Amino acid sequence: MQVWKFGGTSVGKPERMHSIRTLITSTEGRKIVVLSALSGTTNALISMGESAKANNEAEATQKLDELKAHYDSFIQELYQTNEGLATGRKIVENEFSFIRSLIGIRPFTLKQEKELVAQGELLSTQMFQAYLAEQGENSVLFPALEFMRIDADGEPELEVIEKKLTAMLDQHPDKQLIITQGFICRNPRRQVDNLKRGGSDYTASLIGGAIRAEEIQIWTDIDGMHNNDPRIVKRTFPIRELTFEEAAELAYFGAKILHPSTITPAKMREVPVRLKNTMQPEAPGTLIANQSTDREIKAIAAKDNITAIYIHSTRMLNAYGFLRRVFEVFEKYKTPVDMITTSEVSVSVTIDNPENLAAITAELREFADLEEHDLEQSIICIVGNFSADKEGIALKVLDAMKHIPIRMISYGASEHNLSLLIHSKYKADALNVLNERLFYYEDAMKGIFTAP
Ligand code: ADP
Ligand code: ASP
Ligand code: MG
Repeated sequence: MQVWKFGGTSVGKPERMHSIRTLITSTEGRKIVVLSALSGTTNALISMGESAKANNEAEATQKLDELKAHYDSFIQELYQTNEGLATGRKIVENEFSFIRSLIGIRPFTLKQEKELVAQGELLSTQMFQAYLAEQGENSVLFPALEFMRIDADGEPELEVIEKKLTAMLDQHPDKQLIITQGFICRNPRRQVDNLKRGGSDYTASLIGGAIRAEEIQIWTDIDGMHNNDPRIVKRTFPIRELTFEEAAELAYFGAKILHPSTITPAKMREVPVRLKNTMQPEAPGTLIANQSTDREIKAIAAKDNITAIYIHSTRMLNAYGFLRRVFEVFEKYKTPVDMITTSEVSVSVTIDNPENLAAITAELREFADLEEHDLEQSIICIVGNFSADKEGIALKVLDAMKHIPIRMISYGASEHNLSLLIHSKYKADALNVLNERLFYYEDAMKGIFTAP
C-alpha cells in the first residue's frame, strides 16, 4: 500500500482535482490519499478566527461570505452531473453553516480556533470523495479525527494511530482508494487539534510509518526538493536523491516543501518518501531513502525567527555540570535548542520558540551572566555528505560569506550539516552567494552556467 499526499495548490482548482483522480487511478494498488485544504483556505480561516476573537462579528462574517463564494463556484466546475453537484452543495452548505455557528461563539477560545482551522481539510476531502463517488470510483473517506492522535506535548502517538488505522482498513478490504484529511488530529482531551502549519506532510508520513507503507509520495507544485530556496534564489535545481538524515535536516532547517517533522516517522519505519510535482507528474522528483548518491554538498536551507542567547560564567572555567544546569532550564520550559557553540567560559544557543524567553533568561541569570539576546536571526544550513570533507567545505562557505557578519558556526556535530547564524537581513544575500560558490563556481570559472 502507498500513501499519496496532495498539498493546497494541488487541490486548489477543480481541474487539479480532476487530474488527481487521473493520477491516483492510473497506477495499480491500494492507496491512502491525504489531502490538504484548498490553497488559501487555512489562511482565510485563521484570519476569520482573528476577527471573531476581536469580537468583530461583521468582519468575520464578511470573510466567511467571501470564502463561501469561492467554494460555491468551485463545485460548479468540480462535478459533472446534477446529482454530484447537489451532493457538493450539501457539503458546502453544511460546512459553512457550522463555520458560521463557530465564529458566533463567545468567548472565542483556542478550542473554537482549532475547530475552525480544521474545516479546510474537512471540506476538501468531503468534496473530493463525493467527486470520486460521482465518477464511480471505489473509494471511501476515513475521518482523520478517528485515528490521528497527539499526546499532551503535541507529539503524535504512532502506536495508537497504527492500531486505529489498521482496524479501519480491515473493515474496508474491498476499497482501493482511501481518502483522508491531512493536518488535523485529536489531543488527549479528545478535542480537535492540528499538527501545525504545513502539517499534511506530517500526516502522510505518520500514516505511511503506521501502516509500514511501501512508499510515501508527497505531491506538490515543484519537481522535488531543490538545492536552495527557489523563492529567494534564481538558479536552483531539483535533487534526485537524499538520505533520510539529509532530508530531515533540510525540512527542519526551513525547506518549506516539507513540514519540519515529516521525515521522522518515515525514517523510523524505513519507508521511502518521494516528492513529486502534480503539475508535471512525469518529472522524477526526489527520492528520500536510506542511501543516496554521493554528491558532497546537496542543498542549502534557511530557518527564520531564531533567537540567540549568549550565556557567560566564570564558574564554567574547568567546571563540570554547568551545561547540565543550562539545558535543564530549556528542558523545564520545553524549548528545543537548535544550535549551540561553546568556549571555556561561554555558551551560546539558539531557540526558535520565544514563548518562554523571559522566564528562561530570568532563570539562567540566577547562575550566569547574559549578554543581550539577538532577535531576528536566521540559521543557514548547508547539508550534504561531508564525511571525507575532501573539498574543504568550511573554507568555501566562509569564503562566500566573507562580507556577511556571522554570529555562530556549528560544524562537526554530524557529517551532513554545517550551520551558520546570521541576522535575517543578510539571509537572501547569503543564500545567493552560497548558491554561486557551492554549486556554480567551477562552471563560472569555465564560463558555463548549467545546473549540475
Ligand atoms: P503544499 O501546499 O503542496 O504543501 P508548499 O507550498 O508547502 O506546498 O511547499 C512547496 C513550496 O516550497 C514550493 O512551491 C517552493 O516555493 C517552496 N520551497 C522552499 N524551499 C524549497 C526547496 N528547497 N525545494 C523545493 N521547494 C521549496
Ligand atoms: N492546510 C494546512 C496549512 O495550510 C496544512 C497543510 O496544507 O499542510 O497549513
Ligand atoms: Mg506544505
